[in-house]
Amino acid sequence: MERIIPIQPAAAEPSAAAITPSADGLGCASGKDAMQQAALAAGKGDVLAQYAADYPLHPDTGPHDQPQSMCPAFGSLRVGLRMRRTATILSGSACCVYGLTFTSHFYGARRSVGYVPFNSESLVTGKLFEDIRDSVYDQADPAQYDAIVIINLCVPTASGVPLQLLPKEINGVRIIGIDVPGFGVPTHAEAKDVLAGAMLRYAREEAQSGPVAAPRQTRSDKPTITLLGEMFPADPAGIAQMIAPMGLAVGTVVPTREWRELYAALDCDAVAAIHPFYTASIREFQAAGRTVVGSAPVGVDGTHDWLGAIGAATGVSAEKIDAARNATLAAIRGVLSQQKINGRITLSGYEGSELLVGRLLVECGADLRYVGSACPATPWNEHDAQWLRAKGVHVQMRASLEQDLAAVREWQPNLAVGTTPVVQAAKQACIPSLYFTNLISARPLMGVAGAGSLIQVINGAIGNQARFDSMKEFFGGVGQGDEAGVWNEVPRHFPAFRADVKRMNEKAKKKRKAEEMGG
Ligand code: SF4
Repeated sequence: MERIIPIQPAAAEPSAAAITPSADGLGCASGKDAMQQAALAAGKGDVLAQYAADYPLHPDTGPHDQPQSMCPAFGSLRVGLRMRRTATILSGSACCVYGLTFTSHFYGARRSVGYVPFNSESLVTGKLFEDIRDSVYDQADPAQYDAIVIINLCVPTASGVPLQLLPKEINGVRIIGIDVPGFGVPTHAEAKDVLAGAMLRYAREEAQSGPVAAPRQTRSDKPTITLLGEMFPADPAGIAQMIAPMGLAVGTVVPTREWRELYAALDCDAVAAIHPFYTASIREFQAAGRTVVGSAPVGVDGTHDWLGAIGAATGVSAEKIDAARNATLAAIRGVLSQQKINGRITLSGYEGSELLVGRLLVECGADLRYVGSACPATPWNEHDAQWLRAKGVHVQMRASLEQDLAAVREWQPNLAVGTTPVVQAAKQACIPSLYFTNLISARPLMGVAGAGSLIQVINGAIGNQARFDSMKEFFGGVGQGDEAGVWNEVPRHFPAFRADVKRMNEKAKKKRKAEEMGG
């Protein structure tokens, strides 16, 4: 007779001693708690405590027990892969590494991703750490590399693989080992900060203990502003134009593209935290004595306030701040007076720039009802959140997918800007939608260029409503639910069969429950 294996209920609070040192077989689908307990028992308590402080979760919403977007480690991997003369090595389960390398190449990495594989035995005996060390020694060729980055994914972190015991430097090649578990770093945006912060810390300590390499490009003779956050390539140039009347120049963008740029980034007069979630990086800038300014020059109000804050942080005179404002604000007003966004919008994403886009949308005339960001509230986005709330926009930090979807259902917008599952749900509901990551973050946002480009793409998307309506009319309810897929004939319903299956499932469920209770 068929026997159902009883499911043993998990102990509510497993003691550290009860956990085996091996986390082999765990993954993001195993649940965050099991992984965290294993990592704590394996000696990663300090790392997890630092991440909990740097990347705080919302007390009610999480954000998620399991990743609702891509694996967070992708953020660190991407930062490493975009740097010249830097090798990036992953240590983790093969399935995670497969997904991460696939995504890296999908986004045009053009660089090999290193991988140190493991099995249960090498994980439990500590041989994995030796394999990582061997591979780092193999790779450490100063003719090719300035730095080697090793990223512990979930299982090696939960198993306590001690990357901090690797040498700090081999043959002049810097070794940076970081833990980036999905159960400790909530979003891939914040994982960018984990690596950027670790590199800045290393570079700061180097600069403090002796002379370091000069940047490849000649340093501006004006005071410089370091920009924090990956942004559209035209934005730093636009910002440079805006701050030129104040006698300031744009310095380096962090995450950097080369090791020696880290020194230039630290050697600035102020830091603009354009993306507000770089907590570890900001800690390094502050340790180097730099002032950090939040928000960004988006729209008229945003640009006005940001230029004032940058001027104040660098000791620029009120006349020069006014000159910079006069040069830019009239041009932005000009663009905004020529075209407007007409329509109701909901906006959600996990890039960290959602509030800036929200501000720009409001200034472009949009009836924005909701902004959800998977990133946390920080001092650097507080001003943007306040501004949006004052305009009647609901701002949800650490938003979950469920909250983003509820906003679309509630507000029935003319356009839903969001992550892949939000866009998919909106399209199904016949609502025009745009992907935040591919279509909104991949365009200029700052100053005059930002206002012009956003209006065009948003109005174009809202104008697609008629196409959605005609598609809906044409397809009707075809292909929905259990009729989805490719069929040779029109699918037929079998209500009796469906009722039978339902009955059998319920019976099996009751039986399983009874066996569980009986042990
Ligand atoms: S490394 Fe990423 S994909 Fe792998 S288990 Fe962790 S969160 Fe999931």
